[in-house]
Amino acid sequence: MQIIPYAGGITFVDGEDKPDYQCNSCNKPFWKDNFDSVFIVCEHCGGELKDVNR
Ligand SMILES: [Zn+2]
Repeated sequence: MQIIPYAGGITFVDGEDKPDYQCNSCNKPFWKDNFDSVFIVCEHCGGELKDVNR
């Protein structure tokens, strides 16, 4: 488990993987495992996510 600080707070995650996405609005990080579908938006604020691995 790791604790990842971001501009709007902190988030806790299992595993050691780096985030796949980050919210353009609140900067919250997300991982592909967080989403069941290809339609992805920030669970926190509904903002658009950018792919941080590109
Ligand atoms: Zn957000």
